[in-house]
Amino acid sequence: MEGRKVILLGPPGSGKGTQAARFAGELGLEHISTGDLLRDAVKEGTELGKKASQYMEKGLLVPDDIMLGLIEEKLDSLDSNGWILDGFPRTLTQAEALSTMLGGHQQKIDRVLLIEVDSELIVQRLSNRRVCPQCNAVYNLNTIRTAVEGKCDACGGDLVKRPDDEEETIRKRLDVYEEQTAPLIGYYREHDDLVTVSGAGGIEEINAEILRVLK
Ligand code: AMP
Repeated sequence: MEGRKVILLGPPGSGKGTQAARFAGELGLEHISTGDLLRDAVKEGTELGKKASQYMEKGLLVPDDIMLGLIEEKLDSLDSNGWILDGFPRTLTQAEALSTMLGGHQQKIDRVLLIEVDSELIVQRLSNRRVCPQCNAVYNLNTIRTAVEGKCDACGGDLVKRPDDEEETIRKRLDVYEEQTAPLIGYYREHDDLVTVSGAGGIEEINAEILRVLK
């Protein structure tokens, strides 16, 4: 499993982050979430954070040139060469640039996992999502409850609702996904090994299915 490169594809709220955080540990792969990298930059008030937040607040994608710089720097800094990308690529330009970047190092993507979920379930899930701004842990008021209400189980931080998890912004993000990210499904079907998993069930059930298709 070590050294494997996996891309997680799927709409916002399909459970990519929750699943990646689990199976990264189980498979010994590095979990790279571009959404978390951007939110950390926003929190730290860096130049990147200032630029990115204008797009993130509106549910729009951060421009490709910014994202490509960010991902290249991140991949170069890793000790491990096995990883799961969660939230990247999100446009055809990003997908093509990633393949070129890897090709330059005689590397390639091993698996692309598509998690499919119906839009109404997504709106319901994201409206109930709560996150820890300190350690990026993710919870849900219905399905992933904390031991103490409003407090992160991992670090004790105060949980918040992400500003882009308000219903209007969720719907905008779903439109952006359909327009700009869904075309990657066809791209990866053609160029790499894409497998589809249903994201409608419970966390454990989906996790077991993902491990089954990755092993
Ligand atoms: P996520 O946590 O993956 O839902 O990402 C949150 C927000 O970060 C997105 O709505 C985008 O504004 C931005 N973002 C994350 N990854 C990317 C990417 N690969 N390309 C462009 N924008 C991104």
